[in-house]
Amino acid sequence: MPNYLTIRIEKVQIESLRIISGLTVSCSNKQLYKETGFRPLSERRKIHRLIMFYKILHEETPDFLRQLLPERYQERHGYATRHRENFVHYLCRTESFAQTFYPKTLKDWEKLPLEIREKTTLNQFKNAITVYFPINPVPPWYYTGQRQTNILLCKLRNNCSALNHHLYVNHVIANPYCFMCTRREIEDNNHYLFVCPRYAQIRRHLFESITNVFREQNVPINYPITIELLLFGQEAFNIEANCEISRFVQNFILNSRRF
Ligand SMILES: [Zn+2]
Repeated sequence: MPNYLTIRIEKVQIESLRIISGLTVSCSNKQLYKETGFRPLSERRKIHRLIMFYKILHEETPDFLRQLLPERYQERHGYATRHRENFVHYLCRTESFAQTFYPKTLKDWEKLPLEIREKTTLNQFKNAITVYFPINPVPPWYYTGQRQTNILLCKLRNNCSALNHHLYVNHVIANPYCFMCTRREIEDNNHYLFVCPRYAQIRRHLFESITNVFREQNVPINYPITIELLLFGQEAFNIEANCEISRFVQNFILNSRRF
């Protein structure tokens, strides 16, 4: 597939992920993939090409596909070398030919560690290759609760919310200060979640609810409530506790009526 088309198709996926997650263009594609747990389409295609290549090599496809493979160095020279398993590369005079299945996949194949290439069954190969190209699993508490507040929490986590500091950093407004109180402080995640007196009452309720979760989890009740805990959760806690904390933060967001 020509490069310009692969870029355009990737853009469609990226736009869809932005709609799903609510993240704005100020967030990098890397953040977007991490937040949604998707793979870039180019990586998905690469994995499928490599699986097909494995099948061709192991005669799990029609014969004519195998006949299109170039010879191995071993076959050409007749003696074992460090690269004996490698194939003689295709001579690509044009970029469009270099982008076709065999030349492109051959290069990707030879970048795989030998122990993956030498897997004896297709299933073993598939498992090994998925581990080799890992995706970050999305923590379940990232998608608990109502979609509207979930998106707002996701935006806070990725510094692209409607808080003045986030808008300021993204060149939307000229002033990062909080206009909900008189403290003349930058309205960032810390100010919104921990400082701004406007939300003192609902913040007290949030902290009490989280302290109750600590109690249920047998965590010391003086365990620090940090921005990381509120926005990202705590891997050391179980899923239910993290989901509960996430829903409490989402209630805070909703009740603050800030967005
Ligand atoms: Zn404030």
